[in-house]
Amino acid sequence: MTAGQNLSIVVPIFNEAENLPHLVDRLNAVSERICREQDVAAVHYVFIDDGSSDGSFGILGKLDFAGHTATLLQFSRNFGKEAALSAGIDAAADADAIIMMDADLQHPPELLLDLVRVWKTEEVDSVFTYKEDRRTSEGFLKARLTSGFYWIMNRGARFSITENAGDFRLISRRYANALRLLPESQRFMKGLYGWVGFAQRGLPLTPPPRERGVSSFNGARLLAMSFDAMTSFTTAPLRLMALAGLFIACISALYGIYIILERLFFTSNGIGIASVLALISFFGGIQMIFLGLLGEYIGKTVLEAKRRPPYILAERRVVSPVTDTVPSARTETPS
Ligand code: UDP
Ligand code: MG
Repeated sequence: MTAGQNLSIVVPIFNEAENLPHLVDRLNAVSERICREQDVAAVHYVFIDDGSSDGSFGILGKLDFAGHTATLLQFSRNFGKEAALSAGIDAAADADAIIMMDADLQHPPELLLDLVRVWKTEEVDSVFTYKEDRRTSEGFLKARLTSGFYWIMNRGARFSITENAGDFRLISRRYANALRLLPESQRFMKGLYGWVGFAQRGLPLTPPPRERGVSSFNGARLLAMSFDAMTSFTTAPLRLMALAGLFIACISALYGIYIILERLFFTSNGIGIASVLALISFFGGIQMIFLGLLGEYIGKTVLEAKRRPPYILAERRVVSPVTDTVPSARTETPS
C-alpha cells in the first residue's frame, strides 16, 4: 500500500446529542494516532444526522474537530440507519478507505487503529467486526433467531452474509465504488456487503453497553427488519411455498386413493364433519400465509419500481481546517 492515503469516518446519528461530544473527543485522539502511526495522510469525518429531534445537528456544528475536515449532512426526516450509511458512503467519494461506526460509543473508536492496521498489512478490501458470543450478550432466544435468519439468508446464495458481522467496518475505495453502483432504494447494508464480495477479514468485538441515550432497535423492529431483509435478498421462501404445495398435493392424492380403495374393498365408517372442518381451516390458513408472503414480494417490487432516492438531504456543511470557517450551508437533494 502506498503512503499518504485518505481515510473517511462515517457516523450515522439519530438523537445522539449526549454522545456526540464524547465521540468526537475520542475520535480526534484516535485520528491523530492513525495519522502518526499508520501513515495515513488525512482523516475526514462524515456525520449524517438522520432526522434527529434532539438538536444533534446543531451540536455537531459547534464541536471542535481538531483540524480534521468534517462533512455534516442533515436528512430532511428520519430515513433509517441504512440510508444514513449510504449517504455517508456517497459523501466520502475521495476516500481510499471508509470506516462506518455507530455514534453511541458501542463501537469503541480505539478499535479504528486495528481496522486500519489490518487493512494496510493484509491488503483486504473489507475489515469487519463481529460479535464474539451473541448468546451471553443477547440471550438464548435472540441468538437462535439470529442464526436461523442467517441460515435462511445464505441458503442457495452464491454469496454469503457473514453471521454476527456488524456495521462497524472498514471498506476500501473499490469496495465503496461497488456499493455505490447498487441502485436499490430499500437498502439492507449487511446483505449488500455480502453481495459485493471482495476479500475480507473479521475482527472480534464485544460491544460495551450503551452509556447514554436509548437504542432505536427493539425486538419487534429487529424482527420486522429481518423479514424485510429476507424478502429483499432471497426468493427461497417462494420456492419453499411451491414445494410445500407440491408436498400437500401429493399427500392429498394418496389419501384420495386410500378413501376410494377403502370404499370399494373394506367397510368404511366414514369420517366426521369435524375432521373435514379442521382440514379446511388448516389449509385455508396455510394459503393465507403463502398469499401474504407473495404479497410481501410484490410490495417490494412496487417500492423499487418507484425508483425513489434512499434519502433526501436538507443541509450539507463542510467544516474545513484550511479556512477554519463554516462555508455557507447549501441545500441539496441527492441526484
Ligand atoms: N441510527 C440512525 N437512524 C435510525 C436509528 C439509528 O442513524 O433511525 C444510528 C444511531 O444514532 C447509532 C446507530 O445508528 O449511531 C446504531 O443505533 P442504535 O445504537 O440505536 O442501535 P443498536 O446499537 O441498539 O443496534
Ligand atoms: Mg447502539
